[in-house]
Amino acid sequence: MGKIFAINDLRRGLAPTGARAPASGLLPGQDRLDALARPLRDLRISVTDRCNFRCSYCMPKEVFDSHYAFLPHGELLSFEEIARLARLFADAGVRKLRLTGGEPLLRKNLEHLVQMLAALRTPDGAPLDITLTTNGSLLARKAAALKAAGLGRITVSLDAIDDAVFRRMNDVGFAVQDVLGGIDAALAAGFGPVKVNMVVKKGTNDDQIVPLARALHARYGNAAVLRFIEYMDVGSTNGWRLDDVLPSREVLARLRAIGPLSALPATSAGETAQRWRLDATGQEIGLVSSVTQAFCGSCNRARLSTDGRLYLCLFASHGHDLRALLRGGADDAAVAAAIDQAWSARDDRYSALRGAATPALDADPAHAGERRVEMHYIGG
Ligand code: SAM
Repeated sequence: MGKIFAINDLRRGLAPTGARAPASGLLPGQDRLDALARPLRDLRISVTDRCNFRCSYCMPKEVFDSHYAFLPHGELLSFEEIARLARLFADAGVRKLRLTGGEPLLRKNLEHLVQMLAALRTPDGAPLDITLTTNGSLLARKAAALKAAGLGRITVSLDAIDDAVFRRMNDVGFAVQDVLGGIDAALAAGFGPVKVNMVVKKGTNDDQIVPLARALHARYGNAAVLRFIEYMDVGSTNGWRLDDVLPSREVLARLRAIGPLSALPATSAGETAQRWRLDATGQEIGLVSSVTQAFCGSCNRARLSTDGRLYLCLFASHGHDLRALLRGGADDAAVAAAIDQAWSARDDRYSALRGAATPALDADPAHAGERRVEMHYIGG
């Protein structure tokens, strides 16, 4: 009887020169699809569960006070562990890494991690798209070092242009001017355009939609892309109510006070924001309609928590403990197999099932007793 070759081995032999065989056993360029045929493309990494803001919709002061037990340092994934996992995720199809938290710039020497991630390559030799989401408070100090380390893009969160509204929302009295200083530094360092995220909470900051759009355009022209995010029911500490959500279609209606807008085509598959442009100025606006127009069908995102658990949905209550594998001495093939297995079984589509309101889903016996994980821990 002739010798039998595993088909993977034969095909790896045909891979283009320079291509690396992924530890997962997938062929270069071959997609690992989940149970709903969605590929894995985007990994969000929470590098710290701590934040220096106390936004009521995310880390309310009453819960995240001086008694709150944040993770001790030894529980956090080290930079080496994060980089190793990121390499294995790149083998499994990930093309974009987003560093987030908590406030990612609170993690000491984050630029060292960026440098390690910038050295990674996809199986066919391309660099990864490395991005960061930050509240901007430490950005003025860090922007140049992040750029030099190889960070590709930055998103800054800013919920109002009115200083009193913004200070009230971040609940630590942080000034708008200081966030704008961070955006200035990011643009000066060569991160252009910078995306600016505004979470819209009805009755709290919805009067800021038009003023923020006008102010950003006046200051940055088209170098800042403002994105309005519907307030979501992530975690279980923010007291979310559907009544507090301003649907994106209403955001759009309000923006028409500035002038007519035209829809823009999506730039990539799985893009979270619908893109619009103000006709008169060319200012780009994004609408992230996570509540009113769920985009689970194209969701290609996974999340790695601060302590190394893999979450397959922003609204998940359980994570897969990858840190236990790493610290238990598992080799690359074993960790890659765990990632593959988790992704292949993924059938999460929380937002599509949300229906009229979260309490309906919470009342579902299949979800009884589950608490959704907090966003600062798995990364926004
Ligand atoms: N600290 C960083 C920041 O402020 O950008 C990164 C982490 S933060 C959790 C990431 C993003 O999630 C921010 O833009 C924040 O406004 C958004 N976010 C937090 N809670 C949210 C919620 N309940 N609904 C919608 N967006 C939320």
